Amino acid sequence: MANFKDIGVNKELLKSIQEMGFETPTPIQKESIPCLLTSRQDLISLAQTGTGKTAAFGLPIIQQIDPKIKHVQAIVLCPTRELCIQIAKDLIAFSKYLDYVKVLPVYGGTKIENQIKSIKKGIQIIVGTPGRTKDLIKRKILKLDIVNRVVLDEADEMLSMGFKDDLDFILDKTSNNRQTMLFSATMSKEVISISKKYMKDAKEIAVAKKNSAAKNVEHHIYDISSRHKYEALKRIADYNPNIYGIVFCRTRRQTKEITNKFINDGYNADAIHGDLSQGQRDEVMSRFRDKSLQMLIATDVAARGLDVEDLTHIINYSLPDDPEIYTHRSGRTGRAGKSGISIAISNSRESRKIKSIENKSQIKFLKKEVPTGKDICSKQLFKLIEKIEKVKVDNKQIEPYLDDIYKKLEWLSREDLIKHFVSAEFNRFLEYYKNSNNINNKEVKSRSDSKFKNGKSNRNSFVNYSISIGRKKGISPIELISLINRVMKSNQIEIGKIDIRGDHTIFEMDKSLSTDLSKGIKKINFRGNDLSIKETDDKIEARPSKQNRNRSHSSKNKRRGKSDRDFKSSGNSRKKRRKNRF
Ligand code: AMP
Repeated sequence: MANFKDIGVNKELLKSIQEMGFETPTPIQKESIPCLLTSRQDLISLAQTGTGKTAAFGLPIIQQIDPKIKHVQAIVLCPTRELCIQIAKDLIAFSKYLDYVKVLPVYGGTKIENQIKSIKKGIQIIVGTPGRTKDLIKRKILKLDIVNRVVLDEADEMLSMGFKDDLDFILDKTSNNRQTMLFSATMSKEVISISKKYMKDAKEIAVAKKNSAAKNVEHHIYDISSRHKYEALKRIADYNPNIYGIVFCRTRRQTKEITNKFINDGYNADAIHGDLSQGQRDEVMSRFRDKSLQMLIATDVAARGLDVEDLTHIINYSLPDDPEIYTHRSGRTGRAGKSGISIAISNSRESRKIKSIENKSQIKFLKKEVPTGKDICSKQLFKLIEKIEKVKVDNKQIEPYLDDIYKKLEWLSREDLIKHFVSAEFNRFLEYYKNSNNINNKEVKSRSDSKFKNGKSNRNSFVNYSISIGRKKGISPIELISLINRVMKSNQIEIGKIDIRGDHTIFEMDKSLSTDLSKGIKKINFRGNDLSIKETDDKIEARPSKQNRNRSHSSKNKRRGKSDRDFKSSGNSRKKRRKNRF
């Protein structure tokens, strides 16, 4: 197998890349390095981030820098500040033993003066975002007349971000004899058009198949109705306690909404979107990179060029319209030989989009069921047990306290002690999922997993309850629902019809919840009134009430009114509990 020396890399570069842990060239490096070192032919490479493309163009560029010339000889253009910094960092690392090579990243959102100062000192390789590069050219600071190598990295991203005019401007300033190298994860029409305009007789290298996704990524699809999407996201996160991933949303607004809810619900996540200042972006990114944040919620534009290693999951909270964007999103996981999972939370109406992604990306989605509360609890419980098993015990530190602890717990058997430890850590989790639904579309089992193990949750098991509070005390259907939320510690209890009367209210709910409900309700005080509840044979009146007088069965009026219909309780009470998740 060819090594870096065999493909022509010089000894200074060999030394630095060896220190970086590069042993054998990746396929793209094997194909492009010899060609770029021996010819001036243009190169188009279909390669995703993670394939080693930075070294594929970076090593030949560095090796061919003329030490006598202190002006810019090569320029690498890329779509985002993050990628720009990353590429420059890599090039600087490669040229560790060639101290005459000077590399500078230039990007917006930071003072231009320092970049100007550095360029004036003499730079041979510029790595820039198109906007800032153009600005420096216009100010006559950056002169590209002797640039003989140009790299367009993530060309598809640059074009879809609207940098076409800037690229035209910059490329026009370089010499016609330049060697142009274009790297792109996808070959969109725009990429083909720019390659035709600025490249001639280019050698084409495809590391991944055209428009195909990385091989070591599994693609999972969850068929979920829109109203359960958020719950599905949470369960996926709960089922994968070690998740480290990006959740892609369609818009800034959706990104913000999901992030706020997610953080409120106690998840370790933050957002990255176009409304953040550069400082805020950097702060979020640095927390994500050092894994203080487990999940990043992002729009496509904001996440462009983010190069984060080791992502376990990509979650498509909203599917993109363009299948190529899906390929790009999913390509952020499963890098450097590691495996990854790309998840689509979708519903049956999006089946055409799914088909189109499958065809264009040459992948197959595996249908998955959102884990039930029970699945999640077992998984989390197992994680807890493993943690207890593996925790490092510092005998010396805890020694002084042990006698008292043993004495206090001596009445507990070994088995009971284990139960107590687990419950102390885990009760909140069990409680949260106690009455959770199965939210998968095909098999809408509905209601409590624990109480509806056979999946038969239908209205046949509904009975009428009478609660000792009615119109005179001003209760509304919404208040009744939130009361039941509080009592049942769930937002998933399905409630049927509600009939508010003078001093009591009749409502429908599942019979199996009766004991929990009547026990719990005794602890609640509603506007100074103790409450009681009992099953009743009283029928729910279908008479028009103040709230439902105008209701008919027309679709317009089927929108949620205020009484005499099916209710699903809202999630407010849950937030508070979820804040204390471990
Ligand atoms: P890139 O596609 O350039 O973003 O590279 C992805 C990752 O692979 C980076 O962390 C590189 O440092 C690493 N890498 C690139 N080439 C090699 C190689 N030949 N052997 C091992 N790691 C590499």
